[in-house]
Amino acid sequence: MDEDLLAVSYCIDCGKCNDVCHIAKVTDNKYTPRSKIMLLQKLIEGDELDQDEVDDVYLSTRCGACDDICPMSIPITDIIQRERTILAEQGKEPVRTSQICKNIIEAGSPGRKDTTLRNSWINDEIELSETSDVAYMAGCWIAFAHQDIARSTIKLLNKAGITPRAIPEEKCCGLFLIDNGHMEEAKEYAKEYVEYIESLGIKKIIVSCPGCYIVLKEEYARLFREPKFEVVYSLELFRDLIQEGKLVPKALDRKMGVRDACAILEMSDIPRDILRSMQVEVTEMFGGKHGCCGGPAGVKPNFPEISSKVGMITIEKTKDYPDGVVAYCPFCYHHLEDVCQQEEKEFNIKDITELLLESVL
Ligand code: SF4
Ligand code: SF4
Repeated sequence: MDEDLLAVSYCIDCGKCNDVCHIAKVTDNKYTPRSKIMLLQKLIEGDELDQDEVDDVYLSTRCGACDDICPMSIPITDIIQRERTILAEQGKEPVRTSQICKNIIEAGSPGRKDTTLRNSWINDEIELSETSDVAYMAGCWIAFAHQDIARSTIKLLNKAGITPRAIPEEKCCGLFLIDNGHMEEAKEYAKEYVEYIESLGIKKIIVSCPGCYIVLKEEYARLFREPKFEVVYSLELFRDLIQEGKLVPKALDRKMGVRDACAILEMSDIPRDILRSMQVEVTEMFGGKHGCCGGPAGVKPNFPEISSKVGMITIEKTKDYPDGVVAYCPFCYHHLEDVCQQEEKEFNIKDITELLLESVL
């Protein structure tokens, strides 16, 4: 029997996955993790899904909350990814998803941005090397939408005596291809990008975006091979530099919430350690539970209303924090800022790197 179908057959309909899924929550349990995996049989048997069922498959940020809670260890997000592969092969994937995948493959950018502007965050306030074997990758959302995060990262590195180089032809990590089941294209993409970075003589690459981090560190090894460069998450490096006394944060004396990043939940102690070093007291926003922002994996472009409703769950929570909420995923930050603008709500979220810079300078 097909391994995934066998896994689906173990579902005991306990509803635990539905309870943690923010998409299920804002759609009154119309689209749930369980309803998605139950479509696999139809897809494998070659039956056509109706539009509502296709929407169900694409109404997932692949945040992983359902995987983590399922008592039967059903690989829900892997099954969603496989369903998307089949739908893409049938030509039934949403038009926006196909367009974004095409943009990434052809132009190295989900929004087909002008590649000559990717490194336009570089200015004369920061010091970069031309030749270092340590590089910095900003990632799409920072490079094009939130350039201050890149500059703040380099300022902190410079302060600690590190002068990395930018990647001349940096491009999107390709997470969207993986999330949408475009595995063959993702393999080719990973090969090209890994070989390009290696050709520059780069031995270590520092990344700010949790999505880029997981793709470079884990997915490329699965898709192509282990890269010959080390991948370092910027916050982990900052925590080390603080512990070594190379960065000395001043007390900010604030009480803040933390908006965790789904891609690296198992590393969520790192931002908390950094916040503690700045005398920022953290209280958990979702009682220590997973709380997706609602943007990733195509939900925002394909289902903007549902995506915004999920974003509002976090925005409403920020009211409990007069000193604000800290985010460390640039895409969460971008999506939630966007939702606040649409809904005319106060945006009370600060990026952790910018907060650290404020405390160190
Ligand atoms: S990965 Fe997240 S958004 Fe997708 S079905 Fe699971 S809980 Fe819902
Ligand atoms: S948590 Fe697992 S077993 Fe329970 S309903 Fe969801 S998929 Fe089925």
